[in-house]
Amino acid sequence: MKSIALRCDRCVAQSNHTIRSHLLTIITAIILSLPCVHLSAQSAVQIVYRGHQQFDSISRIVSIDRRHGDTLIAYGNPDELQRLTTAGIAYTPLAEKSRSKNIITAPTIERMLRWDRYPTYEVYCALMQQWAAQFPTLCRIDTIGHSVEGRLILCANITNFQDSSTSSERPQFFYSSTIHGDELTGFYLMLHLIDTLLNSYSVDPALTRLVDSVNIFINPLANPDGTYHGGNSNIAAAQRFNANLIDLNRNYPDPFGAVLLNPIQTENQSMMDYISAHHFVLSANIHGGSEVANYPWDSFTLAQREPPHCTWWQNTCAQFVERVRSIDPDRMTDVNQSGYICGGDWYVIHNGRQDWVNATTGCLEMTLEISTTKKLTTDSLLHYWHVFSPALTYYIGVSLSLPEQLQVTHSITTEPQIQVYPNPTHNAIRIQNSSPSRMWLTDNYGRVLQQYQPHTTTIDLAPYAAGTYLLHTPTHHIRIIKQ
Ligand SMILES: [Zn+2]
Repeated sequence: MKSIALRCDRCVAQSNHTIRSHLLTIITAIILSLPCVHLSAQSAVQIVYRGHQQFDSISRIVSIDRRHGDTLIAYGNPDELQRLTTAGIAYTPLAEKSRSKNIITAPTIERMLRWDRYPTYEVYCALMQQWAAQFPTLCRIDTIGHSVEGRLILCANITNFQDSSTSSERPQFFYSSTIHGDELTGFYLMLHLIDTLLNSYSVDPALTRLVDSVNIFINPLANPDGTYHGGNSNIAAAQRFNANLIDLNRNYPDPFGAVLLNPIQTENQSMMDYISAHHFVLSANIHGGSEVANYPWDSFTLAQREPPHCTWWQNTCAQFVERVRSIDPDRMTDVNQSGYICGGDWYVIHNGRQDWVNATTGCLEMTLEISTTKKLTTDSLLHYWHVFSPALTYYIGVSLSLPEQLQVTHSITTEPQIQVYPNPTHNAIRIQNSSPSRMWLTDNYGRVLQQYQPHTTTIDLAPYAAGTYLLHTPTHHIRIIKQ
């Protein structure tokens, strides 16, 4: 305000017209500066909700992080909080606890490899490259894409590349962590897991077998701009959202029709392209803030819509929890006694990654909440590694024992459906029990690529790039992988 007054003082001798024109310029400048103010912060708020309908409204406005009884902890950007107010929903802002002096980064790879710190962004990138250079027959680094601010979204691909005899038969497994930038524990655990898998090769028979038999993909950091919101050496100021203040785990196309409120963010577009170009059979998206294995669906309670393979999910999650609790009985106890839950029974969310992956890619994905504290202090990191590492390697091994039908069954409905073969394919597919109705082909984002007449028996995929496609009938869809 002071600078505006001074400028106006200098304008005294000028005509009223000039003064008006200056004021207009200043006001315009203030208006133009608003988006910067707008994108300055995310806020954590507490909301006490009344009834299912109000919960649903809240869930569609802000990003719910936790629910305890009728109390919600949610995150919103200034726009979203304004929409809460407009909808007449009261909220209380929560101050974030600062423990930054106990959340420390390692400035060098050597310091990082003592495993009691988080990496700086530069150390993270250098470490990934060092692993590929040090273990060329076991590790390759893929770039999934770039963040809004241009940081790398990386993936370590770990398997025995030297033995190509069985490589095409190995199941592809995917871990991805920290889509919420401030949920740091999984980021650290994934780096420690990569290091352990590589250094245990030929040393630990069980881990060697795992690397020989599974094609493992590990993306330690899905939201680098959120994690390094405070700068590349500062992880204590990490935030949940990406640089556009969007919650990336509320930003996937919803297979059940929920409207996407924001454009698909570049981090998610890259991730969808990467997942679509692979043939993952099992995955987990790792979070923090609670400790629970959250299986599909996130959009529905079990009573509303049971997920395919529900019993298998419950058994697999129980096995995971058992391995964690055999080391620390207090872990994975904060949400419920079993340590696992159907996402919608905990709280319903829309446009999350888990439902998109399960419904459209044929991969089975759970959401793994891995530490009650999002920004785990660095003195606790090694303990969490000790507690969770057997369960994390167990879950990779589950990809070797998926019952056959789990890999091909339709992911939304279990009703009979048309079948296609070969699948994966290079070009043509033949259709068995072809649909008496029209059929159409879409990509994973729902864009229609081609329409087909009823009773079509052959489809040519030659014009399309390698990736995942969906062949639809009015009642079903089936996933086709073009190699
Ligand atoms: Zn999260």
